[in-house]
Amino acid sequence: MLTLRNPATEAVIHEMPHATVDDVDAAIAAAKAASPAWRALSPVDRTRLLRRFADTIGAHADELAELETRNMGMPLGSSTWCANAVADTIHYFAGAVEKHTGSSIPVAGGVDVTFHEPLGVVGLITPWNFPMLMASWKIGPALAAGNAAVLKPAEITPLTTMRLAELALEAGIPEGVLNVVVGPGSKVGWRMVEHPDVRKIGFTGSTEVGKRLMVGCADQVKRVTLELGGKSANIVFADADLEKAALAAPGAVFDNSGQDCCARSRVLVQRSVFDRFLDLFIESSRAWKVGDPMAADTAMGPLVTAGHLAAVRSYSDGLDTVFTGEAPTGPGYWHPVMIATPAYDAVVCHEEVFGPVAVVIPFDDEADAIRICNDSVYGLSGSVWTRDGARALRVARAMEAGTISVNSNSSVRYATPFGGFKQSGLGREHSMHALDHYSELKNVFISTD
Ligand code: NAP
Ligand code: MG
Repeated sequence: MLTLRNPATEAVIHEMPHATVDDVDAAIAAAKAASPAWRALSPVDRTRLLRRFADTIGAHADELAELETRNMGMPLGSSTWCANAVADTIHYFAGAVEKHTGSSIPVAGGVDVTFHEPLGVVGLITPWNFPMLMASWKIGPALAAGNAAVLKPAEITPLTTMRLAELALEAGIPEGVLNVVVGPGSKVGWRMVEHPDVRKIGFTGSTEVGKRLMVGCADQVKRVTLELGGKSANIVFADADLEKAALAAPGAVFDNSGQDCCARSRVLVQRSVFDRFLDLFIESSRAWKVGDPMAADTAMGPLVTAGHLAAVRSYSDGLDTVFTGEAPTGPGYWHPVMIATPAYDAVVCHEEVFGPVAVVIPFDDEADAIRICNDSVYGLSGSVWTRDGARALRVARAMEAGTISVNSNSSVRYATPFGGFKQSGLGREHSMHALDHYSELKNVFISTD
């Protein structure tokens, strides 16, 4: 039996059986059966159904937000933002259906046209940190491109994803087009990797599991896209608006209790303003209220599980911090925000903590900042703070990461591509690029002889 707990109280909120491999096979069969009619639907009808799905999600945003907060622990303000972003994401891809066009190419002896063909059945695997948001990033392009999907959410946070599947049916998405199975990744998720009827795996999660899936997909040359871990840099130059950068810095790393793949957990600060910026960063972190995620003024809730709390503590226990915030003692899986300035070779400067722990590292000049930023196996996101526009662009271009912001910490807009360099991933989500990863490009030559 799968037992789900509210991370803020440890109270049991739901119990349900684990899905089995047979359940996955049944879901894949249902998707396969639904696939021909879904792909054959006229684009305008597919758009209309997806828009109705998006509107239904929007109408249930408060309910979804509360469910997410109780299951996952993120503050209600964040989960409300997420629920609306889920609706917006589905709307974006609903609108994209008719705009994902092929091309005609001038060739000798005829005409040549390209088509984006649906893959068929796709397997989607999502993590626990932003459950419904990550689900929407995959459901949107997968369904818009004409595929049927089997989605496996992280077992510990399945409730909003299950609800999304119900809302899809309510909105008129045909049965079998979107299926959700809730079971352990190593069995239920892996079955989708092995199953010959699943043509693609769309995965968000850890780099470790992502690598395993890539190997598993190799056997059938199964398509795979990966959104993985990160250790992103927040680079603050001496000429930046330091007050503004420092006000934004806590959110960039402590948001969602640091359980964010885009967390700017390495704060790189130019040496000449290091002490001043650190003081400002500590000051703004003091105002970062940790507590009841249902309360309106809470900035940060608990960590997701006791197990994850222990994993974060393996980095933070004994860490020599320059600031440790306040947090409830329990019940609940609480961890305070922490800022530290460890020696550069410390493990915490290089590994993804996935908790509210920031390291602040000095640099000398632009070249030094870029060198430190790129000294990572990861490359998901990052920020540059400077008033020098040319430098902002130079540094952004030199950063080995997929999703950069200048004088901002924002990473995610559904209309712009999102994804990682190096071991942070493969492929892109959001934007029209996502549709390319949920379809095959077909080329047809027509002779005019
Ligand atoms: P995880 O342990 O890799 O799990 C992710 C998903 O994969 C879960 O649904 C999990 O199922 C499933 N899974 C685990 N082993 C599997 C296997 N052998 N075969 C198939 N599926 C398997 O990651 P997590 O702990 O949930 O999430 C944290 C990680 O996700 C962090 O590294 C974070 O950076 C990354 N992340 C990346 C992004 C991004 O967009 N780049 C976004 C969010 C999170 P069960 O857990 O149910 O067993
Ligand atoms: Mg995990």
